[in-house]
Amino acid sequence: MYDIVSMNVFELTRLLVDYSQPSYRAKQLFKWLQSGIKTFDEMSNIPISLRNSLEKDCYIARADIFKCYRSQIDETVKYLFRLYDGEFIESVLMKYQHGYTVCISTQVGCNMGCKFCASGLYGKTRDLTASEMLAQITAIQADNNIRVSNIVMMGMGEPLENYDNTERFLKLVSDEDGLNIGLRHISLSTCGFVSGIEKLSLLNLPITLSVSLHAPFDDIRNSIMPINKKWNIKTLMDACQKYQKITTRRISFEYALISGVNDTRECAKELARITKGIMCHINLIPANPVSENSFVKPDKNKINKFKDLLISYGLTVTVRRTLGADIDASCGQLRKRIRKETDGANIQQS
Ligand code: SAH
Repeated sequence: MYDIVSMNVFELTRLLVDYSQPSYRAKQLFKWLQSGIKTFDEMSNIPISLRNSLEKDCYIARADIFKCYRSQIDETVKYLFRLYDGEFIESVLMKYQHGYTVCISTQVGCNMGCKFCASGLYGKTRDLTASEMLAQITAIQADNNIRVSNIVMMGMGEPLENYDNTERFLKLVSDEDGLNIGLRHISLSTCGFVSGIEKLSLLNLPITLSVSLHAPFDDIRNSIMPINKKWNIKTLMDACQKYQKITTRRISFEYALISGVNDTRECAKELARITKGIMCHINLIPANPVSENSFVKPDKNKINKFKDLLISYGLTVTVRRTLGADIDASCGQLRKRIRKETDGANIQQS
């Protein structure tokens, strides 16, 4: 069975040759497939015979809403989606002044093993296809009757470990015959998967690269992010510098502040030193508590001190606002809870 929603117009054109169909149908098909339809029957301007043939040979990837939690504090909505094989992924809808942003997952689980993160607790089950990344967005649009304007690839998974599907997704989602979400409105977050950063830089896309740095010294970073043992901070920063040179886009460094781990004056000073010469923005995130570890965020005073120190070194800094605090909106927390509730048992769709 072909994963037809992951196909671009060129690939659809090739597929249509097998059905002796004119090539102009490829674009018609593409528009339907990218719009979030669930069945071939909905394709009103496609001949029924072709719809039937496609149905036999292809599937339309979907993400079915299994649970949905609406925040009472803000308009954040957290989704737990169930995929065709019963796996669960999470996405979040956030409302900002400039429009709707969806945070999508790129893998089921994650292999990166960051010590503070809930997504990596059980490792990675599998990669998501480009169509499953898209399905998260189209399902959320339909559920809220809205158009999403921004995407952050900051949900579960490491997008650059799933490089080919991620690249395919970026091209599909920004296609003007598809969802047409501008690449400038897309952020891709990586734990520092250097080979992927290098590959991505060659595409020279105007997306925002977000790098989860979280520590400026190798010993600290090694202890909280295993990826640092493969690509250390120097290697990562060199890759970021090269990325910046090619794309001329400002890089965003994510820094989750963890009390007693990475919130010292020395850390602030070193963070300023290693980012020197890179046009960047530092996004401080007060660490979210995860029950399986003992990490806690510093108090407000300490966070502000760290921020002010960075500013005094000339850096541009923001502290991330917490959205959806009442609904476990952060990365991996919901899937973890569902796994616990069901204890791995097979769950029937609600
Ligand atoms: N694998 C990618 C994207 C997914 S994680 C990456 O590592 O960037 C999205 C962001 O949430 C990352 O910056 C990650 O480090 C951060 N994060 C994960 N768990 C967190 C926690 N408990 N508190 C604060 N930030 C966390």
